[in-house]
Amino acid sequence: MFFLLASVLVACNTTKPSSDEQEKSNIDKQTVLQTVKLIKEKNKLTDTELLQKGVEQCALLWRKSDGTTQEFKNFCLEKYIKSEKEKELVFSKISRNLEILNGHFNTITIDLLRPTHQSDYDTHEIDNYFGSYSVGAHLIEDFYKNKIAFIVALNFPPFSLEEKEKLAKSWSRKQWAYARLGDMFEARVPVNLVQKAGEVAAATDRYIADYNVCVGYLTDKDNKRFFPEDKVLLSHWNLRDEIKANYANKNDGLEKQKIIYKVMQRIISQEIPKDVINSKEFTWDPYSNKTYKNGKEVNLNSEPNTRYKYLLDNFKANSAMDKYYPNSINYIKRQYDGAKEISAENTEKIFEKFLSSELTKKVGKLIEQRLGRKLLPFDIWYDGFKSRSELDESKLDAQTRKLYPNAKALEADLPNLLLKLGFSKDRAKYICDKIVVDPARGSGHAWGASMKGDVAHLRTRISGKGMDYKGYNIAVHEFGHNVEQTISLYDVDYYMMNGVPNTAFTEALAFIFQKRDLKLLDINTNSPKAEALKTLDLFWSAYEIMGVSLLDIKVWRWMYENPNADEQQLKQATMNLAKEVWNKFYADVYGVKDQTILAIYSHMLNSPLYLSNYAFGNLIEFQLEMQLKDKSFSKEVSRIFKQGRLTPNEWMNQATGNDLSSEPLLKETAKALTKI
Ligand SMILES: [Zn+2]
Repeated sequence: MFFLLASVLVACNTTKPSSDEQEKSNIDKQTVLQTVKLIKEKNKLTDTELLQKGVEQCALLWRKSDGTTQEFKNFCLEKYIKSEKEKELVFSKISRNLEILNGHFNTITIDLLRPTHQSDYDTHEIDNYFGSYSVGAHLIEDFYKNKIAFIVALNFPPFSLEEKEKLAKSWSRKQWAYARLGDMFEARVPVNLVQKAGEVAAATDRYIADYNVCVGYLTDKDNKRFFPEDKVLLSHWNLRDEIKANYANKNDGLEKQKIIYKVMQRIISQEIPKDVINSKEFTWDPYSNKTYKNGKEVNLNSEPNTRYKYLLDNFKANSAMDKYYPNSINYIKRQYDGAKEISAENTEKIFEKFLSSELTKKVGKLIEQRLGRKLLPFDIWYDGFKSRSELDESKLDAQTRKLYPNAKALEADLPNLLLKLGFSKDRAKYICDKIVVDPARGSGHAWGASMKGDVAHLRTRISGKGMDYKGYNIAVHEFGHNVEQTISLYDVDYYMMNGVPNTAFTEALAFIFQKRDLKLLDINTNSPKAEALKTLDLFWSAYEIMGVSLLDIKVWRWMYENPNADEQQLKQATMNLAKEVWNKFYADVYGVKDQTILAIYSHMLNSPLYLSNYAFGNLIEFQLEMQLKDKSFSKEVSRIFKQGRLTPNEWMNQATGNDLSSEPLLKETAKALTKI
């Protein structure tokens, strides 16, 4: 798990909702032009491109409550910084102050949450009140009130992703840092809209979190049951994992997979009887879609397209914010160009290239051989490439328990782990001095610092008997996060550039560490076959998740094209689009058309447009592994992660000399096929 540090910068959410008029900019185009002209004349400027951008941005954010048109003009005229020297000074002061604010807010949040996160604290209900208190919640709104936001917008305006990518090659590090500061005040969205979207998201979360199928009550046409009576599976995660788990079941695994698949189809089409969700009152035959009580058939209503109602609610709540962004950029662009900094179009290009690869057919054939049957649509979740470890896990447990009886023992050993990865003694100490290990209540997480001088926290679960191997494996993953968090905060030249391009990048390094966990226990697992299986496993899961990600984008585009559609129409469209993606990239491999299964992911509802992060995580991991091969692991990791938050493509270019691409994974897959 990984916590986004930017979360301390969320907008204020307690101000009373205000009228539309108050939430609109009172500065028109004419005023912007006049202001630019005035500043240009006063400062005798020749190049006004950046000035124009700054004044426009300032105007976009300005409200009546900030001042009249004349006050706006005066403000810009007075606060525009002409001299580069002064600009540099102001920038460094703002950076320093933001580090102070972010850093301390982050520390306060970590400390308030200690009883919730750490097992060495007593707990009481009161902890939840403090734990959910957001100390930085008012920062952004305060910065509008005291005009800091406008000084930043005017002098350090934001750049779009297109602009960043175009300018990347010519920008100095300082210009990059200026642009990152500019990102801070991109849009001023009315608090009530942010609140509304939050409410919709929370309601969607509840719907998703409480959507269980009591599989013990599923039957086929012969009234045969397949699962223990008390077995309950959450959609879609547990349902999918049940399909995965049954590849090892040679008895009735296939039948179980088939019936779960049918359930998934009924959920997507919303033909699922409403009263079988979360209920053990009826038995349900998903094939005929008939329901029974005490052996007698009863007619139940289908779920009334609730799934799509939630999707629509999310669309409405998020698209309502569009007009407050520069050029009214929509939610798709905000999630892709904004949050991920990889455009939806570029994502499609990269994924489609991967999905169109002939390798999908070859790997599909290999899976058919291994299964001894033709592929079925749910084999998108085939997990038979997972190399069952030949190592005895109880022996590993004994080893890790002895090594790490408690959190402090792990903390003391962290520098040794880095030594084994090739870091020098000094460098290992430098990094590990900035990481502390705390005993976790949950499975663990990594929480980085937000200011230099502070430490990153590695939270890991250790029982009274010491750390078992599973816990150790996760702890190594979290340690990977901590190393990244430390390098990308302490070694990056500008505070505004700290971090990595997006979530997928931090996960990639965590997985690179996690994969080396046995090496860190001095167990040599140099098996080319195991390596090849791992690659094929990653290939097959990327093949699945990329299709789901494409569908996610297409559904949002459709909603934007049909803003007045109802849930019935959205359902139909989603199913059609799912089939379209299936027919284009899967039908040939699977030998069957018109499947809707790609629409089952719960993320489409509760984390809209997030899914492609998983696929990018896979690609980035491969691209980095290629780069690390035959090179010094420690030097490369240090060099690459101190680049900070460039755009993903620019980061990858400077890391490896290549664009972000699926090529390395495809290449390795082709190689792996020859080894199996
Ligand atoms: Zn992680």
